[in-house]
Amino acid sequence: MRFEKGKSLKGLTTLGIGGKADFFIEIKTEEDLRSALVETAGKRMAWHIIGSGSNIVASDTGCKGAVVKIGINNFKKTGDKIYVGAGNNLLLFIKKVNKLGFGGMEKMAGIPGTVAGAIYGNAGAYGQEIKDSVSRVKIFDSEEFKWIKKGDCEFGYRTSVFKEKKDWIIVGAEFHLATGSPSVLNKISKDIIKLREKKYKPGLLCPGSFFKNIIIKDLKPIVRKKLLSKIDNSKIMYGKAPAGYLLEEVGAKGMSCGGIRVAKHHGNLIYNAGGGREKDIKNLARILKNLVRRRFGVKLEEEVQYLT
Ligand SMILES: Cc1cc2nc3c(=O)[nH]c(=O)nc-3n(C[C@H](O)[C@H](O)[C@H](O)COP(=O)(O)OP(=O)(O)OC[C@H]3O[C@@H](n4cnc5c(N)ncnc54)[C@H](O)[C@@H]3O)c2cc1C
Repeated sequence: MRFEKGKSLKGLTTLGIGGKADFFIEIKTEEDLRSALVETAGKRMAWHIIGSGSNIVASDTGCKGAVVKIGINNFKKTGDKIYVGAGNNLLLFIKKVNKLGFGGMEKMAGIPGTVAGAIYGNAGAYGQEIKDSVSRVKIFDSEEFKWIKKGDCEFGYRTSVFKEKKDWIIVGAEFHLATGSPSVLNKISKDIIKLREKKYKPGLLCPGSFFKNIIIKDLKPIVRKKLLSKIDNSKIMYGKAPAGYLLEEVGAKGMSCGGIRVAKHHGNLIYNAGGGREKDIKNLARILKNLVRRRFGVKLEEEVQYLT
């Protein structure tokens, strides 16, 4: 186990931008994680955790300290409970449980990234979220390994307690899944992957949806009233005003800043068309937020995570 010096962040994120991390290490076991953190503490080195980098905007100036990629890939089925290491690829995990006849995650097939990345942001799609299937999460807090009960994970729309507790590193999770027919689950996953490929062309350099949708019930009454008076209310889905719709209404489609562009087919899909930089993303995000705030009175919030 060795720290690699000067690792480019471009290859570690699906957006393909960023400078270099001072140090980089990929962790395969819990014990290696403990040893790596002892080493960083000894050298007074900051550390930053990543999974597959599919929701990250990395800084142009790189990252001070060590970027630690969690690649712990264990998997164990005990009765109707499944323990999954944090670094397991989410799609491969879903395919595995589909085959075993466990349902509840089949509609999340095609979300890139690791199991831990999905827990961190409570990833979801087509009406399913990872919180619906997780029963508890195992973390390392730099001193000991601990279990966090689901009720203490504070899951919400694209959020969890792990966004607050930056020193909690997810090492695995236990899932309690519903039963289902393997062939039906597999078909649902396959159909959804095909549907997703229309929005996200394979190989597109992007971090998924850039901004979060707006939860209508969380808005102050005066803000809610203004928003509802200005939008086509049939666009509201699951109690949320889609950020993509609001962005399209202010003409975001096709806008660009340097090598960073808003897709012509979706207002909330921001991608790297080549040579894009974090600086371009931040500029474009600021312009888009201002346009939406001025027109609808609501503040868009990034779903992506900045790594600096
Ligand atoms: C084409 C495309 C489509 C997407 N579609 C969707 C979608 O439909 N729904 C959706 O919800 N998301 C979607 N996303 C976003 C992304 O796939 C998810 O957020 C994913 O769960 C991130 O996982 P990751 O392993 O890549 O995490 P990373 O991007 O590596 O990290 C994201 C955050 O999680 C933290 N983190 C990662 N691992 C750990 C750990 N072990 N312990 C503590 N913190 C950790 C990181 O510090 C970082 O802040 C999409 C992304 C792309 C590129």
